[in-house]
Amino acid sequence: MPKKVLVVGGGTGGTIVANNLAHRLHDQLVKGEVEITVIDPSSLHIYQPAYLLIPFGIMHRNEAVRPERSLLAEKVRFRQESATKIDLANRAVYSDSTRLEYDYLVIATGAKPDYSQVPGLEKAGYDFYTLDNAYKLREALGRFKGGKLVTAVAGIPFKCPTAPIEFAFLVDSYFTRLGLRDKVQVSYVYPLPRPFTIPNVAEEVQRMMENRKIEVSLLFNVESVDPEKKEIRSLEGETVKYDLAVLTPPHTGADVVKKSGIADKGGWIPTDRYSLNVKGYDDAYAIGDGTDLPVSKAGSAADFEAAVVATNIWDDINGFAPTLRYDGKVMCFIITGIGEATMLLFDYEHPPKPPPATFACYWYKLVYNRLYWTVTAKGMLPGFGV
Ligand SMILES: Cc1cc2nc3c(=O)[nH]c(=O)nc-3n(C[C@H](O)[C@H](O)[C@H](O)COP(=O)(O)OP(=O)(O)OC[C@H]3O[C@@H](n4cnc5c(N)ncnc54)[C@H](O)[C@@H]3O)c2cc1C
Repeated sequence: MPKKVLVVGGGTGGTIVANNLAHRLHDQLVKGEVEITVIDPSSLHIYQPAYLLIPFGIMHRNEAVRPERSLLAEKVRFRQESATKIDLANRAVYSDSTRLEYDYLVIATGAKPDYSQVPGLEKAGYDFYTLDNAYKLREALGRFKGGKLVTAVAGIPFKCPTAPIEFAFLVDSYFTRLGLRDKVQVSYVYPLPRPFTIPNVAEEVQRMMENRKIEVSLLFNVESVDPEKKEIRSLEGETVKYDLAVLTPPHTGADVVKKSGIADKGGWIPTDRYSLNVKGYDDAYAIGDGTDLPVSKAGSAADFEAAVVATNIWDDINGFAPTLRYDGKVMCFIITGIGEATMLLFDYEHPPKPPPATFACYWYKLVYNRLYWTVTAKGMLPGFGV
């Protein structure tokens, strides 16, 4: 019987782990000693960092989407369907049409916006958390000729913790370039007492926002949004008025992990922070945004985690003890305006120190957006980062 590796979710983490393993296990795949299967309901793979750049015309749909099959190594099987139940005790995953057994499971089902957590949120504002919404936001920004633009975070954790900050900086450059900046009041609203989770990055962000006349409202936990009155209300009893609201919705994990009784209250998968095993199961791993790990929900984290999991599965299949540990590594670009960016690299033990923003770093990010398809997603350079 071949050893069966099953990957639930063919987004960033799932695709990288499957391809990484396929390269390492090439000969065993050819001989039929190993099978790797990815299951995902979507035939399309979306590069989500594009959602932030589409509203400003910096990226376009055709640079953001590829057929999942075209990214997966030839020997990786792809099932285009939803996993409906994950039975960790009996090593099986169900879909509407089948039951898939596994020797090794990787859950990479990601995170998704949950608009239902905040009354009025979905109707009121714009966001950059789906491809369609990124395009709606592009139209809205193009129509906006002046007034108060509020970008507010309506729940933590969410995908790409730096995205709302980058959005505020991009808005600043975008309207400056259009000659409208003095007519647009930009306001950044955040639930914590500082504008970012990590203190020394927060200090730098606050300084840059002050320099760019971006108003910062802290300790504002969004309770509801009133699209008629154009008001965002907080649990603390404050109200912010807006002409255009761009809101980061609260996020939750995938339905299948909740329905299978694996997830915690927030919908996240309890995951060992070093081995990346689903807690209590040596044969099941979780990577990416769906985990409860104390790291950013970032593609780079999923990439670094995928490399650890692929190595450990390879070791186990080949009779070695799986010893590689994830050190919490994350690499994050922060775009600080059109034409400038900085980059953070950090792990569980070493907090980031943001270097000054440069054009070179911005350029590297734009180049990287293309390399994602040919290098990262293909599992060609494990741990290169998104
Ligand atoms: C605006 C924005 C900007 C970003 N910018 C950056 C950036 O600059 N750098 C960075 O590192 N990261 C960035 N990210 C984050 C990055 O896109 C995610 O962290 C990354 O995609 C996480 O990978 P994942 O595999 O965990 O989840 P995903 O890539 O979201 O994949 C999850 C997959 O699981 C599938 N799935 C869900 N339920 C099921 C089921 N029941 N059965 C089977 N499959 C299922 C989904 O269809 C999906 O394909 C950004 C995200 C956003 C939204």
